[in-house]
Amino acid sequence: MLALKGIPVSNGAAIAKAYCLVEPDLSYSKKTFQNTDAEIMRLNEAINHTKIEIEHIQTAATQKYGEDKGAIFGAHLLVLQDPELFNGVAEKIKSGMNAEQALDETTQFFLQMFEDMDNDYMKERAADIRDVSKRVMAQLLGVELPDYSRINEDVIIVANDLTPSMTTQLDSTYVKGFITNVGGKTSHTAILARAMDIPAIVGAKSATLDIQHGEGLIMDGSTGEIFINPTNEYIAQYKQLEDELKQSKQQLEKYSQLKSVSKDGHVVELAGNIGKPQDVASVLAVGGEGIGLFRTEFLYMDRLDLPSEDEQFTSYKEVLEALNGKPVVVRTLDIGGDKNLPYLKLPEEMNPFLGYRAIRLCLDRQELFRIQLRALLRASVYGNLKIMFPMIATLEEFRMAKVILEEEKEKLLGENIPVSEEIEIGLMIEIPSAAMIADLFAKEADFLSIGTNDLIQYTLAVDRMNENVSYLYQPYHPAILRLVKMIIDAGHAEGKWVGMCGEMAGDSIAVPILLALGLDEFSMSASSILSVRSQLVTLSKEQLVPHIQNLLQLSTAQQVERVVKNILK
Ligand code: PEP
Ligand code: MG
Repeated sequence: MLALKGIPVSNGAAIAKAYCLVEPDLSYSKKTFQNTDAEIMRLNEAINHTKIEIEHIQTAATQKYGEDKGAIFGAHLLVLQDPELFNGVAEKIKSGMNAEQALDETTQFFLQMFEDMDNDYMKERAADIRDVSKRVMAQLLGVELPDYSRINEDVIIVANDLTPSMTTQLDSTYVKGFITNVGGKTSHTAILARAMDIPAIVGAKSATLDIQHGEGLIMDGSTGEIFINPTNEYIAQYKQLEDELKQSKQQLEKYSQLKSVSKDGHVVELAGNIGKPQDVASVLAVGGEGIGLFRTEFLYMDRLDLPSEDEQFTSYKEVLEALNGKPVVVRTLDIGGDKNLPYLKLPEEMNPFLGYRAIRLCLDRQELFRIQLRALLRASVYGNLKIMFPMIATLEEFRMAKVILEEEKEKLLGENIPVSEEIEIGLMIEIPSAAMIADLFAKEADFLSIGTNDLIQYTLAVDRMNENVSYLYQPYHPAILRLVKMIIDAGHAEGKWVGMCGEMAGDSIAVPILLALGLDEFSMSASSILSVRSQLVTLSKEQLVPHIQNLLQLSTAQQVERVVKNILK
């Protein structure tokens, strides 16, 4: 039995077979052949098998994830039937190339042609051609491509990396957990694992080399431990752990009906973070008192093009209605960093987290920003909407975003479309420059929401995705605590409420500190709400407040953790 260790990012234990999502080797030799007709037949067979394969995937994807996902594979079937592409391959076979080389060269020719065109639609088709050609090549070589939409038994996914978009496609009926070689605690992939409530370990460096497809695995998402081909003794031990975790989850259920209040009667709001309207149910099931962060970029992902104003309106309305008057904080598009929209064809960047993303992109590409704002404003009459802008670094950005919002509101009113008069407008404080002038923002915003995932990354200059520097990703670093205090005080000085929607809001060491600092709203993955609520009833704000001065004077994150643990004893 071999043991590995990674960064634990989503609690829980899982025991299942490994499903390795490793890119297969599709290299081929340029061998010649005797019979042209037989080679063309081999090509046609590969195309036919690919067609059956894509049809299966299309059906599975439509059933599991809806028409939108299915449509992606519909487009692939069209490519497969494109006579220009495959006649070209047959011609090359006739000139003496084997099917693999003919397919590769023809594909490269079309890819080059499409990618050079100044036409987004044609550029997207290039991606389809690449995908379909890869499938045909795999058929020719007799190599199996990984395809998680067809998983129909319990597995633990093992991959070099999973993009947020791949993660949302995992079917938690069968996927019991995942392990990746790279990644950090607050990468969006890790955040999604917590939202989906499946155990996850990232940054396990050599996992894809050490683990073979089909091998038995145990993973512990609380410690980061992975056991390959575990002994029966280990399996029994972890089965017991699984049962205990299930039981403690059940014991927490009673808190779903209770208010979020500390032992000494201080009431806070515990809200949920969501990415899609479907996520609302899990927040309401645990008695979430609102949505503190709707990451709208997930509405834009896994599609072939931008969602229309009407599509977005429908999603926002659905969430607002489901919350039935409870607050819903919608964050405008935060694309960039580790969240990519291939169809926007954004240029590759050296430092994507510091680059052309979020509000910067929206203020530059106002046509897409305005569509989102219109959809939000139209939906505002269906509930308690609050809008916030991400990645604000300067006051000018915030002012500009508000002006555009106001312009869209005026246009809608001019078209006799009703808009709520009660919408609060706020921003995420996730860049140190914004934190330092939180007092100025507080004068112009209705609320502030602290985005600690990015605030920690930018304050400590530590890439939140990079497992090699994850030791520096320190939520309890005194600099972070001081910044958080500054932001909360700045909001309160102007009579504004202050929330936190970064992962720190659900952290059991941070919660007592945040309570003492007076944070008003804690927003987190639905799966953390009950444990935070159960912790709150054990804490007295009044007794914690006197410790704050001392905590803020400590010099290291380790000391902070130790002192908080002592206080909680
Ligand atoms: C944050 O940065 O804390 C945050 C909530 O936003 P995201 O994790 O989506 O960057
Ligand atoms: Mg952020």
